[in-house]
Amino acid sequence: MLLMLNPHSGKGQAHSLFTAHVQRMLQEASIPYTLIITERQNHARELVREADLSQWDALAIMSGDGLLFEVVNGLMEREDWEEAIKTPLGVLPGGSGNAVAASIHNYCGLQPMSGEDLLVSCGFMLCKGLVSRLDLISICTASNQRLFSFLSLAWGFVADVDSESEKYRHVGAARFTVGTLVRLMSLRVYQGKLSYLPAEQSGSYSSLEQSTESPTDFSQQIASSSDYSDSSPCANHPLHNFCNSNNAPKPKRTNLSQVSVLGPPDSLLVPLDQPVPAHWTVVSEQDFVLVLAVYQSHISEDLIAAPASRLEDGVIHLIYVKAGISRTALLRLFLAMEKGTHLSTNCPYVVYVKAQALRLEPYSPKGTITVDGEVVEYGPVQAQIHSSLARLIAG
Ligand code: ADP
Ligand code: MG
Repeated sequence: MLLMLNPHSGKGQAHSLFTAHVQRMLQEASIPYTLIITERQNHARELVREADLSQWDALAIMSGDGLLFEVVNGLMEREDWEEAIKTPLGVLPGGSGNAVAASIHNYCGLQPMSGEDLLVSCGFMLCKGLVSRLDLISICTASNQRLFSFLSLAWGFVADVDSESEKYRHVGAARFTVGTLVRLMSLRVYQGKLSYLPAEQSGSYSSLEQSTESPTDFSQQIASSSDYSDSSPCANHPLHNFCNSNNAPKPKRTNLSQVSVLGPPDSLLVPLDQPVPAHWTVVSEQDFVLVLAVYQSHISEDLIAAPASRLEDGVIHLIYVKAGISRTALLRLFLAMEKGTHLSTNCPYVVYVKAQALRLEPYSPKGTITVDGEVVEYGPVQAQIHSSLARLIAG
């Protein structure tokens, strides 16, 4: 296993936490690993972009969600992305935003944990080595940049808290609580246009809507191409059963001629300068407090934004809060989110829909959009789900 550790993640204690809680666990489970301490932002991204992946059964991170974001995007930037992204990924929570770790812990039906307890739980999952499929969301920005996301796309309140709370990093996971309270004091409205393709409506758009061999069937090609058993215990060694892409029959090559960047084609999307397809839903409100698209249950260790979300449900859980909500009601909403009950409080300002694609067009020239907690280019963005594209050691 290649384990990449960001020494500056969280309160800056990831390395000592690893030594104290995980190192011996990996030794006792006889899992050989190479530890790489990242030296700068994008170090891990460059590393996996260039790595000889035949050397590794799994790529793991000890950090927050930001380092996993680097790894996923590094893999998707490779010429052989189709095989590379099948490498099982592992997470050890060492950051301040450990949403994926909290989510996989939750999917196992375990009681909520945080901090070092969550780390030990995830260390155990890593040793067990059960591989699940993981949905990825392809996100296109105005400058035609393409990103792959496994957690969230946020604009408005949550994105501002994500970026502003960086300065409270020294308090660890509590930085989101502090950030939320500070933002509540200066609550504002964000104007823009939100459109989405509801999850119920299947089918692709225009020229790509063809036979079963069309690029839209990418996920099925992957599903039928693997010859190893996901989510099943391994016979001898926890890591032996990890994806060995060399043994798997190659999936049929997808026709990539329609797209200029690597990765599966976004068959549900039309270019950002064209109106969304007629069968999409355009939200009538244009004044929001927040827009949050999530594809895991948790958005931080203790905020359960989409309790129904699963690793490979093929769904973007889209939550938006309309302008007009009071500070008190918004605070109540975030407090309810700690239990994941906020969607059943019947707050008239909160809307929750399931989508498979979406477009967000902010009107103000300046602002913040975050993807998986990382600040990305601000402006119009659109996204679509690619079900089960990646693999994650979970459970
Ligand atoms: P946290 O949850 O504490 O924010 P992340 O894993 O999200 O932890 O990492 C925070 C940021 O640090 C990410 O943008 C990541 O790309 C970046 N990063 C990774 N390694 C390093 C490093 N060695 N020095 C500085 N930044 C790094
Ligand atoms: Mg982060």
